[in-house]
Amino acid sequence: MNILVVNCGSSTLKFQLIDSETEQVKASGNCERIGLDGRIKYNAGSQKTVLETSLPDHAVAISRVFDLLTDAKDGVINSLDEIHAIGHRIVHGGEKFSSSVVITEDIIKEIETCNSLAPLHNPANILGIRACQRAMPKIKHVAVFDTAFHQTMPAKAYLYALPKEYYSKYGVRRYGFHGTSHSFVSKRLAELAGLDYGNSKLIICHIGSGASISAVKNGKSIDTSMGMTPLEGLVMGTRSGDIDPAIIEFICQKENISVNEMSVILNKNSGLLGLSGVSNDFRDLQEAAENGNKDAVNSYDVFVYRIIKYIGAYYMALGGADAIAFTAGIGENSSEVRKSIMDGLAAIGVEIDEEANKKRGEEVLLSTPSSKIPVWSVPTNEELAIARETARLI
Ligand code: AMP
Repeated sequence: MNILVVNCGSSTLKFQLIDSETEQVKASGNCERIGLDGRIKYNAGSQKTVLETSLPDHAVAISRVFDLLTDAKDGVINSLDEIHAIGHRIVHGGEKFSSSVVITEDIIKEIETCNSLAPLHNPANILGIRACQRAMPKIKHVAVFDTAFHQTMPAKAYLYALPKEYYSKYGVRRYGFHGTSHSFVSKRLAELAGLDYGNSKLIICHIGSGASISAVKNGKSIDTSMGMTPLEGLVMGTRSGDIDPAIIEFICQKENISVNEMSVILNKNSGLLGLSGVSNDFRDLQEAAENGNKDAVNSYDVFVYRIIKYIGAYYMALGGADAIAFTAGIGENSSEVRKSIMDGLAAIGVEIDEEANKKRGEEVLLSTPSSKIPVWSVPTNEELAIARETARLI
């Protein structure tokens, strides 16, 4: 079966066409600058194409993607009949969705009720669903939620100590994100470490430009560092992660700015970028740190220290850990960060294998045979996870 995986942002539409039997990616790409001017990056095998083309809305973008997939020269299928289902990434499923679902009109309405929890993402996700449904009304469309995997968290992990009516009236609670990745990587980690997934204690560190850690007990998420929104928890590329909430009012008064403006600062101008003043890209930051930039060194240290603290907390929440995984751009590729973190985990018996840790972007055991907890690098693959979920549901 060919499954098209679609991930829509407000001005982007990322896609992959995946053969669900062989799990091979037949084609992939990204429509950018939708609603502005428009550009499509398209990859099929060794063929890489960049098209400057008008993309006034998501409907036009998806129809251009279909043209490319069926193109006589660059296409990978003969007709749209060869696409058997579409899997859509949805950022926020609130408390309504604890697993993936086949999309109906009622489901779209339910997703819309979660829009206020993710105002930048969910409306764009729904635009993508509508555009794909209009183009391909006969096939099944499946929604796979970033929040679903974390719906197993107990109340003690998801409740904030706020007046309780904010939870009952507005759904203010921890939801957690990157769920597709945490689910995919935790299953694979159990396999790699020779553990029974249903009887294991795992800590998953998804460290990319967005970053979150989860504690997975017996195959279920019991805690995660992102909260009601993806702003909480670790230091990220441009997001602050945890701060004292009183800082918001303090800065608003000092700088004479609104809460909305402060929210933009916390989401877009903080994290590694804000602390270093250099870049939100980890490689730039490392280069600056190596060249002696003090702010870059400090932001590296804050970033690593926060991760170590969360791992320590989840070690206690789980009552120990059978294995730990690093994943996503930084977790899969940065030997330096993995070493800094693993050195910080000596108290729980983690020992790094320096040679193995030189490897990048692949599944590799990073700890020594005598390490009390095995630590693995496990590349994540959210698109494949969405394709698997879609194939399972149809
Ligand atoms: P992601 O959001 O998972 O795509 O991760 C993006 C982040 O991974 C960016 O901050 C990149 O700088 C970082 N990254 C990618 N490759 C490397 C690498 N070889 N070493 C350090 N950081 C990397």
